[in-house]
Amino acid sequence: MTSNQSLFERARQHIPGGVNSPVRAFGSVGGTPVFLAKGQGAYVWDSEGRRYVDYVGSWGPLILGHAHPAVIEAVQQAAVNGLSFGAPTEAEIELADLLCARLPSMQMVRLVSSGTEATMSALRLARGYTGRDKIVKFEGCYHGHADSLLVKAGSGLLTFGNPSSAGVPAAVANDTIVLPYNDVEALKACFDAHGHEIAALIVEPIAGNMNLVQPSPAFVAAMRGVCDQSGALLIYDEVMTGFRVGAGCAQGLHGITPDLTTLGKVVGGGMPLAAFGGRREVMEKLAPLGPVYQAGTLSGNPVAVAAGLATMKLIGEAGFFDRLAAKATQLCAGLTEAAKAAGETFSAQSVGGMFGVYFSAHCPDSYADVMASDRARFNRFFHAMLEEGVYLAPSAFEAGFVSSAHTDDDLESTLSAAGRAFARLK
Ligand code: PLP
Repeated sequence: MTSNQSLFERARQHIPGGVNSPVRAFGSVGGTPVFLAKGQGAYVWDSEGRRYVDYVGSWGPLILGHAHPAVIEAVQQAAVNGLSFGAPTEAEIELADLLCARLPSMQMVRLVSSGTEATMSALRLARGYTGRDKIVKFEGCYHGHADSLLVKAGSGLLTFGNPSSAGVPAAVANDTIVLPYNDVEALKACFDAHGHEIAALIVEPIAGNMNLVQPSPAFVAAMRGVCDQSGALLIYDEVMTGFRVGAGCAQGLHGITPDLTTLGKVVGGGMPLAAFGGRREVMEKLAPLGPVYQAGTLSGNPVAVAAGLATMKLIGEAGFFDRLAAKATQLCAGLTEAAKAAGETFSAQSVGGMFGVYFSAHCPDSYADVMASDRARFNRFFHAMLEEGVYLAPSAFEAGFVSSAHTDDDLESTLSAAGRAFARLK
């Protein structure tokens, strides 16, 4: 057994901040990150051998829990046939067919290796298709770390209090228009003024990178409306919500047909795989058919595709999302009850297998609401839960995830832990 502390000290010698992605560093909650050694089902174990009920799930991909036997078997079978070819494979077609069959808006799809690549490529495609440069995003939404999207972004950028990254050229940032989430008037005013210059509007259709913020129906309709009027493409960034909030993703819940959709996390089943796709006429602008270049040595990697296919098949079973959503609903209801019993100002909500918890009287509608919640209290709650053996996302700006591996016993033990954790906040 090696202590988390000694691993963290060692990691910091050669890895900036000791982590390969900033939010892992416990930056806002403070303390030493737990170094994970193993995951099985709903649990992870740290390097000291402590077990936690896991609600991070590798930040969303592990909808079946850790090391699901069917996924592991698919990965093992694919791996013995070769790790990478850089040439087309039959399994890629199977995954592309499956994604297009499950999402009516997706007539063609290209596989990439990360959500960042998916959003970055979708934006380039939108710019190439429309011949326009400007893009619109919303404050508090995170779409990966491509330059034009690191402007007033969520997730780790909010966690570290630096929503717009250094190193993004002003010329690039100037083409990114940032609007408040859920603000229909601001959206319409922006498109009235700049609609003819806007290539795309990109949105987290249910925002999970400023905790969990749901869009109003009017906002959803307005986004489609301004894009239709202006000729801008509507990009639903479903890297987090895709096959997480429901079988038809957020667009299915909203009844919206985006022009382009980005996927990641769940579609890769825990391996580096993501995708972007949409209208055929737009997708056909991609090389080698069209003038918009996009490529990747490891794109459609056979081992990642195998994990994605195995995951997609299992979550396609009848009733999967009803069962998953019931777990998240039960968790949120139980947490709210436990908080009330402890006299805490607290709220929680879930959509499908994704949930948000807030130390505020109401679930937030905006970035400003999230900022106004008692984040210092969340940080204390996080540590109390960690000590109780429950691993939540180490930031008040991140959504949580349940998997099909979470049992009633796991949920009950989490709620007992929460009761004790709330009591310790006094
Ligand atoms: N888009 C959304 C909505 C995300 O939540 C994320 C990652 O959390 C990304 C894009 C970037 O994905 P990746 O971290 O795989 O590059």
